[in-house]
Amino acid sequence: MKTSTSALGALAIGLALAASAARAQPPMDPVFAEHQKAWTTRPEFSSPLVDHLPASDNVPTPRAVIGHDVGAPRVLDHYADLLKYYHALAAAAPRQVKIVETGKTEEGRPTVVVLISSDANIANLEANRANLARLADPRGLSEADAQALIDKTKPMYVALGGLHSAETGPPEMLMELAFRLVTEDSPLVRQIRDNVIVGINPASDPDGRDRYVDWWYRNKIDDTDDLNPVPGAPYWGKYIFHDNNRDINYTGLSARNLLSFYLQWHPPVMHDLHESVPFLYTFSGQAPQNPALDPILFGEMPWIANYEMAKLTSYGMPGVWTHGYVDEWSPGYVGFMSTNHNGLFKMYETFGNGGATTELRHVKPVDGPGEDLHGQDQTGREWYRPNPPYRTVEWSMRNNTNYMETGVLTGLSMVAQNPRTIVENFYRKSRNAIDDGRKTAPYAFLIPGDQADMTKAATVVNLLRMQGIEVGRLGAEVTLKEGKFPAGSYIVKRDQPYGRLAKVLLEKQTFPDNKLRTYDDSAWTMGMMAHVKVTPSADVKALDVPATPVDQAKVEGAIGPPGAAAYAVLDHGAINLAVLRYRLKGEAIRIAEAPFKDADHAVPAGSFLLDGKAYAALKAQVVPLGLTAVALTAKPPVASHEAALPRVAVYSTWGSTQNVGWVRYAFDQFETPYDLILKDEVRKGGLRARYDVIVIPSQGRSAKNLVFDIPLRGKPLPYTKTAQYPTQGAYGSSPDIRGGMGLAGLEELRKFVEAGGVLITLGEASAVPAEFGLAPDVEVSRPSKAFYAPGPIVTAKVDKPKHPIFYGYPEGQPMTVRWASTALLSLPVRDQNDVLMTLPGGDKSVQSGLMVGASEVKNRPAIVDLPVGEGQVLMFTTNPIYRWQNFGEFRMLYNALFNYKNLRDGLGGPPVIADKDDDKPAEADKPD
Ligand SMILES: [Zn+2]
Repeated sequence: MKTSTSALGALAIGLALAASAARAQPPMDPVFAEHQKAWTTRPEFSSPLVDHLPASDNVPTPRAVIGHDVGAPRVLDHYADLLKYYHALAAAAPRQVKIVETGKTEEGRPTVVVLISSDANIANLEANRANLARLADPRGLSEADAQALIDKTKPMYVALGGLHSAETGPPEMLMELAFRLVTEDSPLVRQIRDNVIVGINPASDPDGRDRYVDWWYRNKIDDTDDLNPVPGAPYWGKYIFHDNNRDINYTGLSARNLLSFYLQWHPPVMHDLHESVPFLYTFSGQAPQNPALDPILFGEMPWIANYEMAKLTSYGMPGVWTHGYVDEWSPGYVGFMSTNHNGLFKMYETFGNGGATTELRHVKPVDGPGEDLHGQDQTGREWYRPNPPYRTVEWSMRNNTNYMETGVLTGLSMVAQNPRTIVENFYRKSRNAIDDGRKTAPYAFLIPGDQADMTKAATVVNLLRMQGIEVGRLGAEVTLKEGKFPAGSYIVKRDQPYGRLAKVLLEKQTFPDNKLRTYDDSAWTMGMMAHVKVTPSADVKALDVPATPVDQAKVEGAIGPPGAAAYAVLDHGAINLAVLRYRLKGEAIRIAEAPFKDADHAVPAGSFLLDGKAYAALKAQVVPLGLTAVALTAKPPVASHEAALPRVAVYSTWGSTQNVGWVRYAFDQFETPYDLILKDEVRKGGLRARYDVIVIPSQGRSAKNLVFDIPLRGKPLPYTKTAQYPTQGAYGSSPDIRGGMGLAGLEELRKFVEAGGVLITLGEASAVPAEFGLAPDVEVSRPSKAFYAPGPIVTAKVDKPKHPIFYGYPEGQPMTVRWASTALLSLPVRDQNDVLMTLPGGDKSVQSGLMVGASEVKNRPAIVDLPVGEGQVLMFTTNPIYRWQNFGEFRMLYNALFNYKNLRDGLGGPPVIADKDDDKPAEADKPD
């Protein structure tokens, strides 16, 4: 559009007049006010902070860009529309809004953080970023200089929403918040704009946002029955569903992009917006708390949370509470990137309907027969919930928006009233972290450089590096209290800004109180999970050990001279051996069944044996994969068998794709070909003709739930790609995802095994062959209600050390596994020989974390291989691919694949029936 000069002049005068009038009596948007009132189901579900929205001539409202006011019934916005809004906002108000691009998702959507503040703060953004970075690492900064820097530094407060895609409100609300922060001239908002740099992560799982929104429009928009709800979308992002908030090692790209933003911008406050419990729960860091974190943090969290509860309650809003829901133990929640790095974490749960459809909600859970509602009823009064939510309520997206937005504005206002305290605390926590590492043991963690498999050690180092933790490499041997560490060892010194995080991740977890419950895992000790030796050092000299900073750890592989008749790729447990097998799929590879010596080389059982002709192909792969291949001088003096490449299928239910997602993720990382099969493919039959191995990852609430999955009630639920719903039909497709594999599918699995297939079940899925007769000799039982094992790391006993499953695992050394399942198996004596690994149980078996009632799992089988017909059922009650964490166990599953034709090897003789006297419990085995 062309405008004449005089018209522009008139417009400028008009705008100036409007601006001065705005300051006196800001004009408000009457249409918004009408909508907001109509969509809020009761007056007390609103507040004076959100019952109005400025009318702006030059800055577009959400309605102007996306066609509706936020909180409109029956509307959700796709990610591109969210971005469209923020780009329109930034274009209209470039001096208050800056969009930082942080990367791309798995499906190629851009990830961003939108920064909003006053003109002056946005103009000063780069200097402020540098100040926060300096305060985040105050080494060499004097106290006086730090104080001067704090005086001129604004806190940054980043709000993120939509990490969980079914929690649809926050990405909507954040657009309105952004507009309000740019345009509103109230003292509260002006103070926020002047004193805080607000960051907005519009949807923390962009791929999942679009997939859920499509699903909702297609299947769920008319759903108003909260007692019998239409299920949500089977997938959000590509892999891991709800666990994207348990992604301790940042596999998800949107989380990884946010972490990299964090480490560049150092926001002292992050606020993660979720939906579940009514009406607004504000996280305050209840027990159990990780004592490695700074005590200041545990003062800050309830300080702000209680202010929010008081303010919202004073506006007349019922159901705002704190405490009593999420603890501060596991470091694996995405938003904990802030507390893990000396910042401050805030989190809300507000009440969402899983969409934007207004409906009657039964807030107090309806008590069914035999249901244990302990802890699920949030409608009772408690000291931390003085004005509880209603028992039933008509609830709308706008109510949810009002609560969230009022809460976030209140949290921001608290920070804006105390900007110096927030920044100074951030600095103080950073400095304390360094001091703590100087004053308290362990002073360092060492990863010895002479471990047989250094590839997993490199994985640990690189995960620490991703989190900004400094790691050094020793140039020469060092002697400390704990012994000698050779050149090439890695050292993580604790006198660094993220020394506390290093401690949290690397130390053994000692749960503070066995009577307390925790929201997620009780243990994550990286070395134990990865089967990497990590030695904490109580020797203060460790801080002065010379070490070269490591950017990325890389293990260079090696191969002997060309021209040998044969080569052996030594198996010391590297998962990369699996990658090698897939990359050399055209080569004949055999596996040594026993260790042997050749010249100077000790070749372990499980090593790959290749003909000399494969030299060039082998060299091209072993070097980058960090593996060692030796030239053999003689024919191996041990038996060997083919390193098979089975045709693999991974079975997934539709109702519980998350743990399957972790297996899919690992398989993709290690270049493992497989077909994902769902109920329709299984029921079709003919499985044996197509596959050699079917893996059923842990999934579902029970064996029955795994088989029957989403109940066949209501209407069909299509998950197929169409022009209207382009995100559907990814990672499986079905005209109706209800019904599960059912008995017909089970029968096909039975035929598959009878005809020579290998069925591998992981974790809870191992109850399926037992309870549905595929492995009729196996009984399943459950531990008592007193038993409580939130993911501890425990000792396992390898019963058949020569079995192919344990290739790469050093014989005679203790095995640590993550306890993953509550399905306990028992076998008759005649099948005892088929038990490959056992959980000894007892308190002494707990290496890290918490297991209450550990004697209940005593001597229970952990891995069982049973012959069935021509085939086998291999049952893990552990989960050999648990999230992206227990790298030390991954190889058991790969060994099962490459040796699927030899799983009956190494089982030894018939079972030994114990003498009566041997039944007496030994001293160490007494219940404890
Ligand atoms: Zn959530």
